[in-house]
Amino acid sequence: MNIESLVRPNIRSMAPYSSARSEFSGKASVFLDANESPYDTGFNRYPDPLQKKLKVEIANIKHLHPEQIFLGNGSDEAIDLLFRIFCVPGHDNVIAPDPTYGMYQVCAEINDIEYRKIQLEEDFALNASKILESTDSDTKIIFLCSPNNPTGNSFDTDEMKRILNVFQGIVVIDEAYIDFSSQESWINMLSIYPNLVVLQTFSKAWGQASIRLGMAFASPEVIHYFNNVKYPYNVNVLTQNHALEVLQNKENVKGQILTILDERLRLSKNLASLSYVMTVYPSDSNFLLLRVKDADSVYRYLKEQGIIVRNRNTVSLCNGCLRITVGTTAENEMLLWALNNFRKD
Ligand code: PMP
Repeated sequence: MNIESLVRPNIRSMAPYSSARSEFSGKASVFLDANESPYDTGFNRYPDPLQKKLKVEIANIKHLHPEQIFLGNGSDEAIDLLFRIFCVPGHDNVIAPDPTYGMYQVCAEINDIEYRKIQLEEDFALNASKILESTDSDTKIIFLCSPNNPTGNSFDTDEMKRILNVFQGIVVIDEAYIDFSSQESWINMLSIYPNLVVLQTFSKAWGQASIRLGMAFASPEVIHYFNNVKYPYNVNVLTQNHALEVLQNKENVKGQILTILDERLRLSKNLASLSYVMTVYPSDSNFLLLRVKDADSVYRYLKEQGIIVRNRNTVSLCNGCLRITVGTTAENEMLLWALNNFRKD
């Protein structure tokens, strides 16, 4: 597969911005090249535009090379950049199952790209044939979010493989919730599929949503275009340094994931026993999707109790559904207590 031919012609031929910090990489003690303040505030210097230290650490953990990694201001930045790299505004299209994570459509609309929604099956399964039948020569990207948001399930590996084997464009597998899943990550398949882009994030299992750090893993060729199109200093130094610290505490995070998985099971059982809960869908993520008899009322009632969940009642296939994040044991207890008392008075 020729990745180069998928890239927008203007992006292929552009000269990227060359920042002062990326032009010089040797040893020096006097930096008069970037019009920074010379006074040491701890923050007077621009950060490393390519986040090299952090990428080495992440590469070690993921068993990849740093050249296969892009880091951005959340994985949302990577999603937007994918449109800007591959999709010609007003001409190309992308495809995603429906329902799924909302930012693919928002970024498509911002970039003036046709967004084709292909409905999942009733049980939220992915149907590769339906997706592939909807492609044409202007389809540049297929987004597959697995485990999927808001449905919580992982897609079938063989269905996803079929898309990767047949589709001649970029396949993005968004693994924001992979750490809660029983499935293997697709990053192990990067060497087989040059058109595969895997997204992960520090916002979920790593517990770092506020530092805004997302990861895209792909072939060095694709990462090269990410680097050409991104803002020069897209990940600030506070985030880079903090992430380096967080990576030292991997064991902590592993423990938290195990607790969340235990709590997910407990919540799921308890929610299923409530008379007005019709279905608690199986989840491979850190949230549960449940269908209830009157979603708007349950949502409003919980809000009055100071508990905010996500009302997905108007989302396709999710009529009557609420999406509930697994909290701490104490938070889940409060949720269950409140739900047990719904309409008891
Ligand atoms: N992908 C999915 C599937 C998500 O649910 C989210 C956040 N809710 C994101 C990406 C964005 O994550 P980030 O915080 O890394 O921008």
